[in-house]
Amino acid sequence: MSSPLPHVAFFPFMSKGHIIPLIHLAHLLHRRCLATFTFFTTPLNAPFIRDSLAGTDASIVELPFPENAPGLPPGIESTDRLPDMSLFLTFYNATKQLRPHFEQALASLPTAVSFLISDGFLGWSTESAAKLGIPRVASYGMGCHAMAIQYYIRREKPHRGLASDDQPFTVSGFPNLRLTLDDLTQFSYDPHPADEVYKFVEEIQPPPDTRAVVDNSFYELEPGYVDHWNSHIGPKAWCIGLLCLAQQKTRSNNRTELLQWLDSRVAMNRPVVYVAFGSQAEISELQLKEIAIGLERSGVDFLWVVRAKGVELGEGFEERVAERGKVVREWVDQLEILQHESIRAFVSHCGWNSVTEGISAGVPILAWPMMAEQRLNARFLVQDLGIGLRVRASDGTREGLVRGEDIAKLVRELVDGEKGKEAAKKAKDLARAARMAMEEGGSSWRALEQMIAEVSQKTTTGLAPGLA
Ligand code: UDP
Repeated sequence: MSSPLPHVAFFPFMSKGHIIPLIHLAHLLHRRCLATFTFFTTPLNAPFIRDSLAGTDASIVELPFPENAPGLPPGIESTDRLPDMSLFLTFYNATKQLRPHFEQALASLPTAVSFLISDGFLGWSTESAAKLGIPRVASYGMGCHAMAIQYYIRREKPHRGLASDDQPFTVSGFPNLRLTLDDLTQFSYDPHPADEVYKFVEEIQPPPDTRAVVDNSFYELEPGYVDHWNSHIGPKAWCIGLLCLAQQKTRSNNRTELLQWLDSRVAMNRPVVYVAFGSQAEISELQLKEIAIGLERSGVDFLWVVRAKGVELGEGFEERVAERGKVVREWVDQLEILQHESIRAFVSHCGWNSVTEGISAGVPILAWPMMAEQRLNARFLVQDLGIGLRVRASDGTREGLVRGEDIAKLVRELVDGEKGKEAAKKAKDLARAARMAMEEGGSSWRALEQMIAEVSQKTTTGLAPGLA
């Protein structure tokens, strides 16, 4: 009789960018018959997870989201529904109240759990799992390059005492990297010990008994950073991505209006730039209007996802561009769009999922980072990988407005210019490498099996040094 499959418990943080890669991972485990799994989430996130996991045998356990969490409007259980991201820490603190419910539900599962994959933002779940002798693997939803650089920035604070924002500095782990403050998000690089932000940054560091980290990346994408992380920092990072390639989609004959519109661009031989800034970025109305001006002036066909509700993008803009541009205000299937052959460039906020989805589709990226580790992602894709161009404020400041004329120039350069052609070629090469890594025998294919075998053992050997 064959032994039962390992049983994995997933507990993502309540953000689309944290939930989606773990859904992809669950599909991968299912398709490769490597494990069964249970997802933990809250009632308002359950329908999205249930729909996304259709076709698998997933169990979903709903934990009650804290009612009347101080400072949080009722009925909000994921960060993309927050009225504004200044409430992020309030939301994060509220999620700690899930702990007793999680511990009770984990202990009562009918099938023993082989290991837990939980979000880096739910660091307390390590202890919850340890009480039951369950190994915990952390998921941070970012690449090893960003984890490693942030590790040194936090420890060494090399940015202190710089004469100017553009003065380069290095970190001891990567002496050849020339960083500037422009590569870092202000809130994460210099929090004051009395700040809530400082507490948050400390709390999300992997506790010593975290068994491993899942890296939604493939080894060939960031080998130096992965090797460095695993030999000097830890816990061991397993590159098991790109997870967005987990579901093998076939071209659907049921074409949505959006796909039909993209199909029509192919028929007319008109490349399309896809513009989207993830599930939670906040962009001022003034900046949105400049984006509209830029897209109109670029002369390039575009598909633009606008999250902000009720915002005017400029008088008559949508009518004037109706022949060659689409503005969408609802949730789209971003991966399907990026993989459409009409898409020639991606204007992105550089959330790690968006970066990996752009890479998987072989699409060059106009990097416009906004928060979290996105500035490091932008640096990585522009400078290390050479698959994009960087957007910068037109007045040379850190957070200033990007004028429409600059956006137009960059879009044209990426779609038609020499730099764009070079970036597109590199992006296509990386897309091929990503697919190879995920195929049978590829680096990510093997890493997933090895990780499951290693983590399922109930010993603490196999930990990388560093934080362990
Ligand atoms: N996404 C999507 N449709 C939308 C908006 C976002 O499918 O209309 C997905 C996108 O493909 C990605 C995730 O939401 O998988 C956003 O994650 P990312 O890390 O790019 O950014 P975040 O939202 O976390 O800032």
